[in-house]
Amino acid sequence: MNFKEYSLEKRRLLLELKNILPLESLKRSLKDSHSRRRPRPCGMTVHTAIGCVFDCIYCYIGDMGFPTDRVQPYALTSLELVYALVNNRYFVPSLYGTYVAIGSVTEPLATPSVRERTFEYMSSILKYLKNPVQISTKQYISEEIADRFKALSRRGPISILITIVTLDHYRRLEPKAPSPTLRLESIKNLCKKGLKPTLFLRPIIPGINENEATDIMLEAKRAGVASVVIGGFRVTRTILRKLETLRFDTREIKKRLKGKRLLGNRQVSVPYSDIKRELVEIARNIGIVPLPSACCANTYNIFLTSGIRIPCYGLCYTNMCLNCPVNCIEVLPSIDEEDIRYAIARIVSSKIDIHCNKGLLMIITRSKRDRNRILSKDHLLSVLQTIYRRRIVVRAE
Ligand code: SF4
Ligand code: SF4
Repeated sequence: MNFKEYSLEKRRLLLELKNILPLESLKRSLKDSHSRRRPRPCGMTVHTAIGCVFDCIYCYIGDMGFPTDRVQPYALTSLELVYALVNNRYFVPSLYGTYVAIGSVTEPLATPSVRERTFEYMSSILKYLKNPVQISTKQYISEEIADRFKALSRRGPISILITIVTLDHYRRLEPKAPSPTLRLESIKNLCKKGLKPTLFLRPIIPGINENEATDIMLEAKRAGVASVVIGGFRVTRTILRKLETLRFDTREIKKRLKGKRLLGNRQVSVPYSDIKRELVEIARNIGIVPLPSACCANTYNIFLTSGIRIPCYGLCYTNMCLNCPVNCIEVLPSIDEEDIRYAIARIVSSKIDIHCNKGLLMIITRSKRDRNRILSKDHLLSVLQTIYRRRIVVRAE
């Protein structure tokens, strides 16, 4: 897909949905934040519910203002959600477009009603937009629910991340979530149906759970996973206090923060690259493919389930690649200079030069004014980045 095709496809989708949805729904969609939000590195986050009651101690949704004492399905219908995404200026529909990430600030399978909403959303996204979908969950997935995932996966790729971060401390760290034993059962049920779930080993909390990582990977491998995402920990003042109240040893966290102060609700990443390096090696020795990020898991899942190699949406190949079999760098889309000029001509009319190497697409303008005007349209640059899967740099000559 190039930029022209993207523009046509968006127009077509808007028309199609306008013909289906009543006026009230169109208005509700446009007011919703899904129609405006910027994508994250893992893709466009889609909320299928608000709140979560699993009460994980390391969770930051409370600090972000989401409820932690209740969970309810998101208010939009699935078609309203799809319409909101099509209206989002950062969102590129299609298998080669923006990844969709479900479960970043809630548990998307928390209750039967939330689960239904999640399946409705996934189903409509795959039907109308065809974008790769990813869901992360701690909920137990029975064989029956695994069957539903399987049925849905016939419409398009669904990457399923099963979070397990502790086998020993789950009662303290994740007091209201299903036990890790049940989550391993979820992996088995999904694998039985021919799906390819990924172990989501995040967060690694230095000094608290990294010693369990090997056992978790071994258990998950036994249950059937073929890949693991190893991810870090973001701490806030409240989370640190909760860990200490539960008598966890937080000295290693503080040591790694090197005196960085935790202010208000600010989330601070705890450095852990040394631990990650070690765990990547262990994963390889165990025979699981280590992946650096959730979007790589999405990319790898597309490859495993369809044989299609799509370069990672988050451009992880430029700075954190772990050389999984997708080999993103070898399958980058070719550059259509005329198409890029067509896109940029919407902002500035003067000439531009385009230079491209493997991971970078450089646009060179004739003046600083043109450069600034292009940079101010970050949604357009984001769309070009998604289409061409390269980091875009704009410079004045
Ligand atoms: S399941 Fe996820 S959203 Fe819910 S409390 Fe745990 S970390 Fe937070
Ligand atoms: S090749 Fe590298 S960047 Fe691409 S999906 Fe695999 S690990 Fe991620």
